Amino acid sequence: MKNIILKNMKNHSNQSHFLFSVSCSCCGRTWNSPPVLYSKSNEVPANESKRIIFQSIYNHEMEKAAALALNEARTHFNFCPMCKKLVCNNCFMICEDIDMCISCAKELEEQGEIVSS
Ligand SMILES: [Zn+2]
Ligand SMILES: [Zn+2]
Repeated sequence: MKNIILKNMKNHSNQSHFLFSVSCSCCGRTWNSPPVLYSKSNEVPANESKRIIFQSIYNHEMEKAAALALNEARTHFNFCPMCKKLVCNNCFMICEDIDMCISCAKELEEQGEIVSS
């Protein structure tokens, strides 16, 4: 599940904050992760050594922010086992035998309840 989200996660991070987004394969709705501020966004590295250090801090903070976004995205998205797509809670149904996205449920004539509306 984490890998599927990672594959669909876009990175919109810049020099001031870290931001990621995931889009629903069904309705196209995009979810943005809560932006995380880069701790050195207001600081300019004084020299080349500092620049390298800042770059490392940036990468480290981005990894942390990505992990947070990933965890958060898991509460908003579901993996449809039928079409193997990542869909949002509005497009995912809890069915009797197996949970699936609404388009698969329609095609297979399965009844169920949508996760959230
Ligand atoms: Zn959706
Ligand atoms: Zn599906």
